[in-house]
Amino acid sequence: MTIRTRVLVVGAGPVGAVAAYRLAEMGIDTILLEAGADCPEDMRASTFHPPSLEMMETLGLVDELLADGLKAPVYQYRNRRSGHIVELDLGELADMTRHPYRLQCEQYKLARLCANRLRGHAHGAVGFNRRALSFAQDDEGVTVQVEGATAIETYQCDYLIAADGASSTIRKWTGVEFEGFTWPDRFLTLSTDYPIERHFDRLANVNYVADADEWCVLLRVPTLWRVLVPAPESDTDTAFLSDAYKDQVFGGLLGIDTPIETYHRTLYRVHQRVAKSFVAGRVLLVGDAAHLNNPLGGFGMNSGIHDAWNLTAKLQAILQDGAAAEPLLSRYDRQRRTICTEFVQAQTIQNKQAMEGAGDDGRSTQEHRMDELAGDPQKRRAYLMRQAMFTSLEREAEIA
Ligand SMILES: Cc1cc2nc3c(=O)[nH]c(=O)nc-3n(C[C@H](O)[C@H](O)[C@H](O)COP(=O)(O)OP(=O)(O)OC[C@H]3O[C@@H](n4cnc5c(N)ncnc54)[C@H](O)[C@@H]3O)c2cc1C
Repeated sequence: MTIRTRVLVVGAGPVGAVAAYRLAEMGIDTILLEAGADCPEDMRASTFHPPSLEMMETLGLVDELLADGLKAPVYQYRNRRSGHIVELDLGELADMTRHPYRLQCEQYKLARLCANRLRGHAHGAVGFNRRALSFAQDDEGVTVQVEGATAIETYQCDYLIAADGASSTIRKWTGVEFEGFTWPDRFLTLSTDYPIERHFDRLANVNYVADADEWCVLLRVPTLWRVLVPAPESDTDTAFLSDAYKDQVFGGLLGIDTPIETYHRTLYRVHQRVAKSFVAGRVLLVGDAAHLNNPLGGFGMNSGIHDAWNLTAKLQAILQDGAAAEPLLSRYDRQRRTICTEFVQAQTIQNKQAMEGAGDDGRSTQEHRMDELAGDPQKRRAYLMRQAMFTSLEREAEIA
């Protein structure tokens, strides 16, 4: 049996789920397929930036996300050794957004919200336990072979959106190169419901703690704290995931020797890569399938949502208004690839280096950067606009 739809989206992470739901809401028949039994409950993205929240508001999703998350108007840069704190307040951008804060909310909550809305939608559907295996395309459309629970299913669509994440099978089938590099150190995330804020003075919900040897990020979501630390290449996965290492991290951070219970301990290999093209005929790459970056700044999922926003508007023009496909899809490629390279890659690499670096005076690079902003409202606004991703969207609109 062949199942026909206008757009097939593979991968029900946050990016694929947003793309599929927006298309269905536009009235374009769309099916979202996911290899897993549900949208994966992983502990990766937890920060939504203001422009992404504005997009979610347009889709009627923001109230549920706000109810499921924590607002973080203020975020902190701390120096681990000196204890020096610099606070940045997104409230300074209240004149330009209804959401002058980061929302701390786990990424799977957005993916599940979209997937639930697609169930029974007049123009949308979602299928779990369905793994895309291969595809073939011609001038008319794309045919996709999918492994279901009991049989191989065939889907035919006008366009295939590859939202199948970092190891994207679809990107590999297109042969598009995934240019960039992989950092030698990995990142370890530990989550706990232990009230770590009791051990710090005025800890915010988002905190970047700089140190040349032991930098870390402390992020709060409604029920947990997430601690992100670097895991140097010198040691093994087993060592980093051990209780002994966990106790060492919390002991060093909180100055206590009581064992802290963790809910997740996950090691991530960290890449800085951008696909050489986001468009391969009728196959369109979005999110982690198209670009990867380190998580410092919280740009991975957010920039993926911005890909989905840009692409779905162009598909609407093509599929509903009869616009010529090639110029619009080429522009999607130009706009989003430029932003991923010029902004997401450059900024995340700079953010990582600032966390690790220290000057001769022992003060961190981050601290110097922040002190410069503290006394200069104009520079601070520009910095907030950039880190909140407004600047990259303004730049995207300028790209012809
Ligand atoms: C520690 C850490 C913290 C992070 N924090 C942030 C943050 O705060 N803010 C931020 O913006 N970003 C953050 N990121 C990045 C963010 O997690 C990713 O950019 C985001 O998950 C990308 O979403 P996606 O939908 O493109 O891919 P994914 O979330 O990886 O989803 C891909 C989906 O495709 C499915 N799939 C794969 N292959 C197939 C197939 N063949 N057929 C069907 N389904 C398939 C998978 O099961 C998965 O559900 C973080 C990353 C890490 C590692």
